[in-house]
Amino acid sequence: MPEPIVGIDLGTTNSLVAICDAAGPRILTDEDGEALLPSVVRFDERGAVTVVGRAARESAVEFPLATVYSAKRLMGRSAAELESLRGRLPYRVVAGPRGVAAIEIPTVVGPRVITPQEVAAHVLERLRRVAERHLGQSVQRAVITVPAYFDDAQRQATRDAARIAGLEAVRIINEPTAASLAYGLGHARRAGRADLADASKPERIAVFDFGGGTFDVSILELSRESTAGQGSADASLSGERSGELFQVLSTAGDTALGGDDLDRAIIDLLVGELQARFGTSIELPPAARQALRRFAEGAKVALSSQESTRLAISIGEGRSHERVLTRDEFERLAAPYIERTLRCCRRALTDAGLSPEAIDRVVMVGGSTRIPAVRTAVEGLFGTRPYTALDPDQVVALGAAVQAAIIAGQRRDLLLLDVVPLSIGIETVGGAVAKLVMKNSTIPTRATEMFSTSVDGQVNVRIHVLQGERELVQHCRSLGQFDLQGIPPMPAGIPQIEVELLVDQNGVLEVSAVERRSGKRASIQVVPSYGLTAEEVERIERESFAHARTDMHVHRVIDLRVNSNLDLMWIAAALERVRGELEPTLLADIESRMGALRGFIAAADRDAVSVDADAFYAAKESLDRASVPIHEASIRQSLQVSTDMRSPHQPQSEA
Ligand code: ADP
Ligand code: MG
Repeated sequence: MPEPIVGIDLGTTNSLVAICDAAGPRILTDEDGEALLPSVVRFDERGAVTVVGRAARESAVEFPLATVYSAKRLMGRSAAELESLRGRLPYRVVAGPRGVAAIEIPTVVGPRVITPQEVAAHVLERLRRVAERHLGQSVQRAVITVPAYFDDAQRQATRDAARIAGLEAVRIINEPTAASLAYGLGHARRAGRADLADASKPERIAVFDFGGGTFDVSILELSRESTAGQGSADASLSGERSGELFQVLSTAGDTALGGDDLDRAIIDLLVGELQARFGTSIELPPAARQALRRFAEGAKVALSSQESTRLAISIGEGRSHERVLTRDEFERLAAPYIERTLRCCRRALTDAGLSPEAIDRVVMVGGSTRIPAVRTAVEGLFGTRPYTALDPDQVVALGAAVQAAIIAGQRRDLLLLDVVPLSIGIETVGGAVAKLVMKNSTIPTRATEMFSTSVDGQVNVRIHVLQGERELVQHCRSLGQFDLQGIPPMPAGIPQIEVELLVDQNGVLEVSAVERRSGKRASIQVVPSYGLTAEEVERIERESFAHARTDMHVHRVIDLRVNSNLDLMWIAAALERVRGELEPTLLADIESRMGALRGFIAAADRDAVSVDADAFYAAKESLDRASVPIHEASIRQSLQVSTDMRSPHQPQSEA
């Protein structure tokens, strides 16, 4: 690889590094496999750096004066500007050289003043080493993201931090722009789409960034003016111009609103209940409060994916308190905070002179956007389903890497998203794939199909989304899966599950499933073609060609096996009821055919490829034909039952 340029999200709470090569953008993890590096640095008694990241974060309780977090809040600011922050940070914020904000660390030789740039540099240095370990070469250049509201001094401070860490910041880009790039916004209209009618219409994007301690919303306009007159839509790919594509129309936010507030709301609830039980004099030691905070955060995170969670705390002397916290209760606690994020959104819209309906896309960023109630609220305000397919922690770093690749000129070989490059389908019983969207469909595209359950009383259905041309799940690429839960119990085949696949113009796929009778619904979003180069798509196609015959054969055998099993089940049950009424020779004949069919099923289980599908089919057909008398006998029986029930008032008809 030529000299690499990495993308870095230098966050208030967490930082990440990513790279974008021919396989698409991806996050680089540290030696423990962790993607997130907490932006925390601890200094020792001599003022030297001891640890960076998770270990430093753990030490914050023990060394509050020497553990620096949230340094990003201080970058490029004057001490005077930060009066309001005083008292909210455990370490000392002082005026450094020329009045800039700095941090005073106690050391054995007296206080030492450290600039926020130095702190950030330690974080960047760590990320640089993570990248070097992955790439096996030295890394000296990076695209670094900053909040859209950062002024010149704050951007300059970020550049300085990079320089201290041995990195040249080849570009400083806005976090919301990076998030948009990660979703391919601004790229979808590459090659061949510039002539479409709507290509000249500016696209408006809202980026909703709800993190640990801060909330930001930005309204961006993606204008294509910068590519006009270039003679080629591909010009948007070339680095120097691409930065002009996204214009920030407005930003709003709250630097003291984030996931931390939600943790605190849970703690307050618990402490309040503890006090009600054991008297108001309860004083929690700092370590216990810190533990409680961790615990509350865990509960909050759990409630993003489950309906309730159990909370239990013990405060010594046999005093303990236990309760179940439901998602409903948590949502009531969170509601005022969520409302504050919406208020910021309305302000940003007003500042941009736009109504919520004027926003084409809403991109979700930050860990707190995993909370379902946040997603619902955002959808309610903008009237459009927000983008949530990419990990909200990672989306900014991924976008920075995309920008880096654009600058390095490496993105040209990447796949264009104007068409769906590979078919998309869902898994059906037995490991086969039902294709809903065919390869080369132009986007946007939509497809629906009805499915049902295969087992009586089935209340959950797993929807597994796959991409590829082959017939079997194991040969396709898994894009994601989700469960449709809470279907009322019904016999197999009765529920009507409509699955809808929708690929929007940026290639973001949304899959939803709804059970018609109960109205139960579930869905996911994914970005289907990330990480596929044109060569890979070709290879996948070639393989499907080469295997088409076998695949179709196996698909047929699997279907036969599923249907034969259902037949056998039904016939065996009916046979029990009517056995006495059948002639012994007929009975023996049916049973031998059942045995033959079972033989094919067993063979299919061992090795579906070598089963003779035609013979299998013939065995199933012959059993179906032979079992007609069973149907007849069982219908006769049920008629008898109903005639019996009609007596004695009605005259019996002659049989
Ligand atoms: P920042 O942008 O401030 O660096 P992040 O984007 O990393 O912060 O978000 C961190 C916040 O996201 C924390 O408050 C964390 O508890 C919260 N968070 C992470 N995952 C979830 C989840 N699944 N449900 C709810 N909150 C979450
Ligand atoms: Mg962030």
